Amino acid sequence: MAECLTLGLDIGSTASKCIVLKNGKEIVGSAVIPAGVGTSGPARACSAALECAGLAPDTKLPTAATGYGRHTFPGADYTLSELSCHAIGAHALFPEAKTVIDIGGQDAKAIRLSETGKLGDFLMNDKCAAGTGRFLDVMARALELDVTELADKDAEATNPVPISSTCTVFAESEVISQQAKGVNLADLVAGIHNSVAARCASLVKRLGLVAPVVMTGGVAQNAGVVRALERELGVKIAVSPLAQLNGAYGAAIAAYEKHIKEQNHGAD
Ligand code: ADP
Repeated sequence: MAECLTLGLDIGSTASKCIVLKNGKEIVGSAVIPAGVGTSGPARACSAALECAGLAPDTKLPTAATGYGRHTFPGADYTLSELSCHAIGAHALFPEAKTVIDIGGQDAKAIRLSETGKLGDFLMNDKCAAGTGRFLDVMARALELDVTELADKDAEATNPVPISSTCTVFAESEVISQQAKGVNLADLVAGIHNSVAARCASLVKRLGLVAPVVMTGGVAQNAGVVRALERELGVKIAVSPLAQLNGAYGAAIAAYEKHIKEQNHGAD
């Protein structure tokens, strides 16, 4: 079979993610650029992933775009919802998975996979920043930490501080006033993670918890949130090192399937 490369691009609210895939399976290039819709991030993510695959940065491959900003990308042959792409990506990485939890920069989704590993039911919180990456970004900034430092801080906690405000703005004030009172930083971070996990767990429970569970999206890289969610749900959660790239991975797989189908029809 001739080699077929496809490109999957996930244009999110905060980051652009891109995967170059060989024959619908093997990742040969990838890039995450921390700039999302309305920025140069999507174009930069494509160029970087193509270069990572040893290709010229302007190479044109069959391309599927997904994510919040998918309709803004002129180079896409196909567009798919991020729900579909996260389902496809998670099923490819964890064929046994039944539930996918995706927490990104501005929303949280609970997805039930169908028997064939496609998108089944889903529930989404996209109305409020609480329980999303945005909440964690705001809290990390208030505590003068980088989001990448939150998990290690959380691991030092002995007595997590409950965060009573559900609104991001009020919760930020609450965190600042707790810090002013001298509350231990690690306990504060763990409390923040528990608050995100509680909101996300209620979404999953409303959908109906069916194991095995996989977590995707940028926030899955925060082991503190993953641990807190495991405690809330009482199940183990599988996380791939590709978690943030999962939507782009699903898009690249979909681009391959659609491209091959079109070629086969063309050959009829
Ligand atoms: P979107 O698709 O909406 O752009 P992503 O799925 O890319 O969102 O996730 C972005 C969020 O992931 C950020 O808001 C941030 O909180 C979190 N994040 C990104 N990288 C890391 C990391 N290395 N460690 C912890 N959290 C991270």
